[in-house]
Amino acid sequence: MSGATPLERLDRLSLELGIDLWLKRDDLTGLGFGGNKTRQLEFYFGDALQQGADTILITGAVQSNFVRSAAAAAAKLGMQSVLQLEERVPDMGEEYYSSGNVLLAQILGADHMSYPEGEDEAGADAALHARADELKAQGRKPYVIHLGLNHPPLGALGYVIAGQELSQQMQDIDAVVVPSGSGATHGGLLTGIALEENGASVFGVCVRRDREKQQARMNTVLQKLADLLDINAAPLQDRINVLDEALPPGYGKLSGMTHAALKKMARTEGIFLDPVYSAKTFAGLLHLVTVGEIQPGQKVVMLHTGGLPALFGYQNELTNDQP
Ligand SMILES: *Cc1c(COP(=O)(O)O)cnc(C)c1O
Repeated sequence: MSGATPLERLDRLSLELGIDLWLKRDDLTGLGFGGNKTRQLEFYFGDALQQGADTILITGAVQSNFVRSAAAAAAKLGMQSVLQLEERVPDMGEEYYSSGNVLLAQILGADHMSYPEGEDEAGADAALHARADELKAQGRKPYVIHLGLNHPPLGALGYVIAGQELSQQMQDIDAVVVPSGSGATHGGLLTGIALEENGASVFGVCVRRDREKQQARMNTVLQKLADLLDINAAPLQDRINVLDEALPPGYGKLSGMTHAALKKMARTEGIFLDPVYSAKTFAGLLHLVTVGEIQPGQKVVMLHTGGLPALFGYQNELTNDQP
């Protein structure tokens, strides 16, 4: 990535919602359709290059943006990539397995393997290590990007920088609304704005786990990130604020609320959101306005984390049920 991503005012939505709404365009980070994983991968690939790696192994859902972005970064750096796709989202149609990010990864020349479980981070990481051992035996130099929490959250460092960047772009923000999945984005951004002494409320919209589980996960992510930065985690952990109203019916599945949010952004601002993350984030933001946690007139920034190729993997879901 070079330079800051744009911070764009959403004039029509601001008027409609009675707030001062801005969109931080991390869908425009460049590199193979962009998104939040570009910032995270800079730190993993930096580490991989330092270790002399020639092959990157990474795991994610079938329509994962992380694995697609990793395949793009590997291509740019002249490395091979091995993408492990997990069965995380039940009952999906043919497009889910062939279009969107799956198609892009094929074009990028990535190797594929699959993992039958979608909720077993340790198992998915172990399977990557088993494959890495095979590659080592063949003389390759593999580097594993882990999903589980028992490794330093290098990717979150990219969002520490993003939080600092945002604080420098705009000082008097009342609230920032971000998706909260692995927690690298949420944890990093919260830490970055805290380092800039920015007091904005940071709301994490659950996209994967319910509020209680995500709260616990964020505690761990912030502790590990604070350890990496050699700072005190407690003041960061006090600022964890997660909501899960937009999560049902679960990871990678759309409710009417999410579908409506996706269409509202497109039809009011001409900006696309993705069905798995950013539309849920916007649905969460709309909920916060409805219940008064975001108040009239407040200056609010929503982080657009990208993920747009998944729109094509969700063609059925987006055309069949009308919100
Ligand atoms: C991965 C992803 C997220 C979640 O980010 P985490 O850092 O894993 O919490 C949000 N939005 C998009 C588009 C993503 O691909």
